[in-house]
Amino acid sequence: MHAIVVKSHGGPECLAFEDLPIPSLGPSGQALVRLAAVGVNFIDVYQRMGKYPGTLPFVAGSEGAGTVEAVSPDVTGLRPGDRVAFCDVRGSYAAYVVAPAERLVPVPADVDDRTAAALLLQGMTAQYLSKSTYPIRPGDVVLVHAAAGGVGLLLTQMARRAGARVIGTVSTEEKAALARDAGAEDIILYTSQDFAAETMRLTGGAGVNAVYDSVGKTTFEKGLDVLRRRGIMVSFGQSSGNAPAIEPLRLVNRSLYLTRPKLLDYITTAEELRERAADVFGMVERGELHVRIAHVYPLRDAAQAQRDLEGRKTTGKILLIP
Ligand code: NDP
Repeated sequence: MHAIVVKSHGGPECLAFEDLPIPSLGPSGQALVRLAAVGVNFIDVYQRMGKYPGTLPFVAGSEGAGTVEAVSPDVTGLRPGDRVAFCDVRGSYAAYVVAPAERLVPVPADVDDRTAAALLLQGMTAQYLSKSTYPIRPGDVVLVHAAAGGVGLLLTQMARRAGARVIGTVSTEEKAALARDAGAEDIILYTSQDFAAETMRLTGGAGVNAVYDSVGKTTFEKGLDVLRRRGIMVSFGQSSGNAPAIEPLRLVNRSLYLTRPKLLDYITTAEELRERAADVFGMVERGELHVRIAHVYPLRDAAQAQRDLEGRKTTGKILLIP
């Protein structure tokens, strides 16, 4: 089967298109999935760079959707032919993957494979950020950085639906239009405008209840300045580089909260995973959530896909097709 293998840490050139044997099923608790679509995420870039621990070589990727081909003898509740999706199984940049059966979620009949692969990781992230990390209430004002990105477009829609006024930051006019369509009332071009001053102006000096910050290095510090009393900084990514270290005392002025959440801690059990997945699939089925699949590449072009993601050239979701 074709797969994208990382043999050394580094730039996109470290992603090699190779022919590997189809992985074999273990005796217990696993399923072999034939992939129809593979999700590209920023975490794939961090893993390629070696920012997170892991051993070399490895097949890149952790998200995808497809059809179960076979299951270990002790697996119940999953059969060959079932359509499934996953977001935390290593080795998804490939034609096949072997996954723990309990990390697979069923895909509803009216959600196609590409939508399922596009939705799970970023959709459940937007879901837990807006419903669990900081449960958004009607009347809240929230600042969403990189609002036209994969997580950004979904989070903006969910925050709006929860009744919040969303202020979104983006780098281009094209991205501004997308974020506006997703429900952002105000857009700040943070590459040319001071987003902190602009946020304070837009809120009449009041600031926001929550900042959802996936950008990190270039936005984190100033984001603390736009929070209201007892507001929360949700620092959930670092697309521009790591956020700087701060002392707890930095939060004393206005009694701010700071959290650095990650999806895996919000889908700890099979039940929690399935609940969150069902919630986001349900939003799509009811027409409440639009998934923008803006970039589809053949699997062999994974390096270009990651180059574009790192180069801020993408909006919404990027998929690879094996
Ligand atoms: P995006 O589609 O949001 O792509 C990243 C975006 O970040 C770019 O399009 C760009 O938007 C913005 N950005 C700002 N500065 C830079 C920079 N210097 N270099 C590159 N991009 C920059 O990616 P994802 O939706 O896949 O992920 C967004 C972030 O969320 C990532 O940091 C990811 O790791 C994190 N994440 C965290 C999760 C968690 O549970 N903690 C789960 C999922 C994702 P613009 O051009 O508008 O500035």
